Amino acid sequence: MPSTVKDYYEMLGVNKDATQDEIKKAFRKLARKYHPDLNPGDKAAEQKFKEINEAYDVLGDPKKREEYDRFGRAPFEAGGPGFEGFRAPGFEEAFEFGFGDIFADLFGTRIRPEAVYRKGPDMVMGIDLSLEEAFGGVTKPITITREVSCKTCGGTGAEAYQACDKCKGSGKIQTSKGFFRMAQTCPSCEGTGRKITKTCKACGGRGKTLLTEVVKVKIPAGCDTGSMVKLRGMGGAGVGGGPPGDLHIEITVKPHPIFTRKGDDLYVEVPVTFGEAALGAKIEVPTIDGIAAMTLPPGTQGGQRFKLSGKGFPSPKTGARGNQYVNIKIAVPRDITNKAKDAIKEIEALYREEPRKGLVRK
Ligand SMILES: [Zn+2]
Ligand SMILES: [Zn+2]
Repeated sequence: MPSTVKDYYEMLGVNKDATQDEIKKAFRKLARKYHPDLNPGDKAAEQKFKEINEAYDVLGDPKKREEYDRFGRAPFEAGGPGFEGFRAPGFEEAFEFGFGDIFADLFGTRIRPEAVYRKGPDMVMGIDLSLEEAFGGVTKPITITREVSCKTCGGTGAEAYQACDKCKGSGKIQTSKGFFRMAQTCPSCEGTGRKITKTCKACGGRGKTLLTEVVKVKIPAGCDTGSMVKLRGMGGAGVGGGPPGDLHIEITVKPHPIFTRKGDDLYVEVPVTFGEAALGAKIEVPTIDGIAAMTLPPGTQGGQRFKLSGKGFPSPKTGARGNQYVNIKIAVPRDITNKAKDAIKEIEALYREEPRKGLVRK
């Protein structure tokens, strides 16, 4: 875009020493005249409208105007000298927001909604479960205190508002860094594009109110430490009428006195007597959902592991249950009478093989 067009002051029809107010008035007058809505299909009017918009974007901002007065128009163009084919960052935005300016200026309170409409933040909350609760799934009441969008003002914090003077309702301002232009969030209105003229009484202008409520959380069977349950819309309040964020419930399964869990499998240690191990026995063992009968074969060794198929945790995905592993421990009596000693000595004589054979060299 070579600088063959008239200069910005000429475009707006004002003198070089015009006040900001005069520039603004001149711009408004021209914008009304050449607005595309009022001149449908008129290409010349459209072009003119773009030009005055570009001119006002610079002259309407004292800082940019000063830079323009000193350096001329080049810094404000998409491709100034030496920048052929290069698009300065923010140019398209500048153009787009330029139109936002016009709308806000012409219609006073018309706001570009995307500048203010934002989803609320997600939140995380921890919850502790017993192994039994994790196994069967559980519905737990939890107390949530969170900020919700104020119902009275719809989250705007305002009973009445008008477009922000500084950004003219766009929520963004253009800044220049040498030859580059960038769109920044308007510091005056923090990007909302609004200036509150009457504060909402219900929320004191914050747009949010605190809400404490008890919510029942349904936790599915088979969850483990680190599992997350999402409560949609139970997070932080949205901005400008935007939807609330989500609440993520992070599960911790507390350690169990009997069972150890690895994935969908459970492990339990079961002590048996020497006689039960040597002769075999039918014993009862605990499982997560009740007592199960188990047959010990004769000659069971301490540390031997038995599998109870399908007695583990349900997979949260398929519902298929893992296994329970029973680790056998030989319980040795500690308090032994002389009679017992004699009996044990008789048993000792029955070992036909040295138990540590091959482990210790003699
Ligand atoms: Zn603003
Ligand atoms: Zn309010």
